[in-house]
Amino acid sequence: MEQQHVDVLVIGAGISGISAACHVLRDNPGASVVVLERRARVGGTWDLFRYPGIRSDSDMSTFGFGFRPWRQARILAGGADIRQYVEDAAADGGVLERIRFGRRAVSADFSHADGRWTVDVEDETTGGRESYSAGYLVGATGYYDYDEPYRPEFPGEADYRGTLVHPQHWPEGLDHTGKRVIVIGSGATAITLLPAMAGSAASVTMLQRSPTYILALPEVDPVTAVLQKLRAPARLTHKIARTRNIALQRGSYAFCRKYPRLARKLLLGLVRARAGKNVDMRHFSPRYKPWDQRLCVVPGGDLFKVLKSGKAAIATDRIDTFTADGIRLKSGKELKADIVVTATGLSVRLLGGMALSVDGSPVDVTNRVLYKAVLLEGVPNMSLVIGYTNASWTLKADLAADYTARLLDHMRRHGHDIATPVATEADRSEFSVMGEALTSGYIARADKVMPRQGTRDPWRLWNNYYRDRAMLRGAPIEDAPLRFAKAGPSGADTAAGTQEPTRAA
Ligand SMILES: Cc1cc2nc3c(=O)[nH]c(=O)nc-3n(C[C@H](O)[C@H](O)[C@H](O)COP(=O)(O)OP(=O)(O)OC[C@H]3O[C@@H](n4cnc5c(N)ncnc54)[C@H](O)[C@@H]3O)c2cc1C
Repeated sequence: MEQQHVDVLVIGAGISGISAACHVLRDNPGASVVVLERRARVGGTWDLFRYPGIRSDSDMSTFGFGFRPWRQARILAGGADIRQYVEDAAADGGVLERIRFGRRAVSADFSHADGRWTVDVEDETTGGRESYSAGYLVGATGYYDYDEPYRPEFPGEADYRGTLVHPQHWPEGLDHTGKRVIVIGSGATAITLLPAMAGSAASVTMLQRSPTYILALPEVDPVTAVLQKLRAPARLTHKIARTRNIALQRGSYAFCRKYPRLARKLLLGLVRARAGKNVDMRHFSPRYKPWDQRLCVVPGGDLFKVLKSGKAAIATDRIDTFTADGIRLKSGKELKADIVVTATGLSVRLLGGMALSVDGSPVDVTNRVLYKAVLLEGVPNMSLVIGYTNASWTLKADLAADYTARLLDHMRRHGHDIATPVATEADRSEFSVMGEALTSGYIARADKVMPRQGTRDPWRLWNNYYRDRAMLRGAPIEDAPLRFAKAGPSGADTAAGTQEPTRAA
């Protein structure tokens, strides 16, 4: 099989992959870069998810790229607009023509002797195989399984005669007009679907086991709207909104973690003010502290409006069983439905299922810590992009992209072929980077898939933009735990640490 060689191979053409490719090309103009993408279009998450009302729940000044202004005053954006924005960034950054669509990276092996990755790829449109070699690999495959969502089975499902759908695979043309709809779930997807379907469906009920913190945001950013009216340059407007929103996100997160009781009081008070005094606060009072799980936001309080108007409802209860025409709850109540949406979440998956090995020895990602939250311990010449979960994903994806581009530039200028972060046993904790408090099922599931949390810098994942910015943008590339080497038989010795570490008990 003929092998194609590139300097940098990026896996994934979502927000993270496009950011990485744009940064690498900007800082390394002569580098050959190819992006492999399974899907037929750019956008990742924003191409896959097509349910009614699909939108971001991060503000676009921080969810957009640092290098490309988001030009709308609306704070949250629809999925199609986000996808188009990512594609436009790819086109302007010279990345679009470097993307090979329909390609799934199946496995990647790094050879110290050659100082290169060999990546086996399946062309999913023909079933044929391709082989790439690359000096550097960027894993920008997101954090979940594209094929199989998280979908627990409910008792009696087989008896149900209506339509069952999961938001990850929304059937094209599914018409909910005049239908009774139940949405199982309490996360961002469920609270987006409710207002989006409420106008045309006969009824929409969100069925949740336990509530989530919900915060109403204004629909439009007033400062951005004024600056746009004054015809301020788009870059300046973007920068002002972004700088302010990063500080607001960080400040409100830190406040919630430091003063959880006060934060809870404030958050529930805001819900009461929006939803009206007749609201049953049982539906909005989570059992956990603010930001133990991701906070959900609603633009212009749209969710509260449809609840107030009676077009939508919430049931906080447990499923006893599906029946032929709906769901019976543990409380004995029965909900009728023509359509049941199982907004039960994602299956966490790293590297899009790609098998990783070094000199033929398999790498178990769940045993390794991350160097500066970007490189994987003991794995040479590879960045693994995982964005923030407590702030906009893109803030971190951009930092990781910027660091990768700088690292490549540094290696080229100093004649290094191989860069490997080497950790010690004491750097590794037993918990995953998702944290110690396994409050949500999602985090508990992620524990089995994600790298370990480090015990100290530069191995500890802080999920803190300011700290990461100082570490990834401010600090020099040369750093004791990051070992550089020449390709060749002795390359592996210089970077001792490529053997599988033992997992902490
Ligand atoms: C419905 C939904 C809404 C979200 N909203 C927000 C939000 O508002 N704010 C926020 O911060 N985060 C949000 N997230 C998280 C979101 O996934 C990220 O913010 C961001 O879109 C991830 O970008 P990414 O490029 O890292 O990954 P993805 O968007 O998942 O893109 C990964 C790409 O890699 C490709 N790929 C995967 N495996 C392979 C392989 N083996 N070979 C080749 N290609 C492969 C995929 O096809 C995909 O195109 C949301 C997630 C979901 C599911």
